[in-house]
Amino acid sequence: MAQTTRWQQHVDYTMDVNLDVNTHLFNGTQKLVYTNNSPDTLTTVYYHLYFNAFQPGSMMDERSRNIEDPDSRVEDYISKLSEDEIGKIYPTSLQQDGQDISYIVVGTILEVELAKSILPHSTTTFDMAFEGQVPLQIRRTGRDNKEGIDYSMAQWYPKMSEYDYAGWHANPYVAREFHGVWGNYDVSLTLDSRYIIGATGILQNPEEIGYGYAEPVKHKKKKPLTWHFKAENVHDFVWAADPDYVHKTVQVPNGPKMHFFYQEDSVTTETWPQLMETTPKMVAFMNQRFGKYPYSDFSVIQGGDGGMEYAMATLIVGGGSYAGLMSVTVHEMFHSWYQGVLATNESLYPWMDEGFTTYASNITKAYLTNSEKDPQSGSYRRYYYLVEKDKQEPLTTHADHYNTNWAYGTASYSLGSMVPAMLEYIVGTDNFEKAFRKYFNTWQFKHPNPTDFRRVIEKETGFELSWFFNDWIGTTHHVDYAILNVDADGINTKVELANIGTMPMPTEALVTLTDGSTKIYYFPLRMMRNAKTEFGETDTILVEDWPWTNPTKTFIIGQPIEEIKSIELNINKRVPDIAPSNDIWKNE
Ligand SMILES: [Zn+2]
Repeated sequence: MAQTTRWQQHVDYTMDVNLDVNTHLFNGTQKLVYTNNSPDTLTTVYYHLYFNAFQPGSMMDERSRNIEDPDSRVEDYISKLSEDEIGKIYPTSLQQDGQDISYIVVGTILEVELAKSILPHSTTTFDMAFEGQVPLQIRRTGRDNKEGIDYSMAQWYPKMSEYDYAGWHANPYVAREFHGVWGNYDVSLTLDSRYIIGATGILQNPEEIGYGYAEPVKHKKKKPLTWHFKAENVHDFVWAADPDYVHKTVQVPNGPKMHFFYQEDSVTTETWPQLMETTPKMVAFMNQRFGKYPYSDFSVIQGGDGGMEYAMATLIVGGGSYAGLMSVTVHEMFHSWYQGVLATNESLYPWMDEGFTTYASNITKAYLTNSEKDPQSGSYRRYYYLVEKDKQEPLTTHADHYNTNWAYGTASYSLGSMVPAMLEYIVGTDNFEKAFRKYFNTWQFKHPNPTDFRRVIEKETGFELSWFFNDWIGTTHHVDYAILNVDADGINTKVELANIGTMPMPTEALVTLTDGSTKIYYFPLRMMRNAKTEFGETDTILVEDWPWTNPTKTFIIGQPIEEIKSIELNINKRVPDIAPSNDIWKNE
């Protein structure tokens, strides 16, 4: 498929950071070589300063105290942090190409007035010194998480905002999504030598470190240790540190090497080795079905709260059952495909990250547990419940701006995972599976948007799909098809179907005869410009197209009504039909 002429910015970070594990204060230097590949001249730039969200009165604090359904991990906790518990990050000096430049810290954003404009297709270097304080962990990042992990260092450094064809994306942080610039990271972390670090990238000095990266090394107690990591072609850098971590590795045949960092207790000594044993089978399936994970390493690190995705790593809670641990690991690792490698702007299109990740993890978990159930059925259930309670907001809503956490969560995870689940129904499962892989292979490292996704799927499957995306993403229209009438028509039977919803879909009616035989009558939508061919074992009759403008459709079954046992719409339940009761007719 032809590439678009889309440009993207590029960053090269070199950071040198010292953390004092007694005061939780850190300081560092950051050299950022920034390449402006845009056709625009830039006169300002913006950095994210996420740690400043953990201060009483921050936008994240206000949002959590005013939304009707606050996250139970946040609630009003930020407002109660004391001075030595809050998060802080701020520059102490900033230069552009050796010249001091002015800046102001506005909450979680650093606004920078440039000394000289960055011309199109040119490079400039920012040298920053910065200081910070690691907050007590409230959400995702910080010190002393609930399981006793000392440092979960996510979104911890001054991070350049993304600038793209839609302009700057300097969203004030309110605990939702992240977006970053593609680039390379060279990070040196210096701290107490008793601490073991799991991080993004590849450790450059394993023989000085030991700790499961190489043969054990005897470290001097009082002397700090410097860990040197490099990561190429990523848009973020995470690390976590604890003196009680064990670090184990599993090499998946054909890659990647998996690292596991956890604290041993009576639960984790059972569950984590079990997870490590499942890993080769799990990752082989993920690679084969959804496209190959492109990095050499991935780290599963106990830390944070719940599970959260980062470049080449995840922070997850480590206690709990094996099933829960496996499930969260599969989900968070799949973010490497959709958040890590495709790196869609999650604030604008969270459904393309959380949704696709949920869809792929559902399939993988079903594979690992030999489940026969439709792996996507839970998403449909959550969607119906949201509609029933009248809380749905369209998927075009900016992630930060959904009215409730519930609507955001259900939209991103459930309605998002229903996009590929419905596409399977519309174009056929095999047809979609190939196209979905093609999307990953075509758009990796390029920040695709919804149009990019639609174009690949249309081109690979041969279906016109804008009608589907327009309605499902851009509106809260609902699907509702019904069986209106079934009447004798001489020696035949006449069936009248109705489209009483506001979103069209191709329709399938399963007719079961009294002798037990079955037939599917299939009505493609005219505007799809195609019809699927994949119906499994059942005989299928392709009936003429059903234009969306027509409220009803009549078809004839070549059997007398006495020989018909039942007629059923939405057989595999992949159509999000909000009124299933009118989908079935029984000859009683
Ligand atoms: Zn997720």
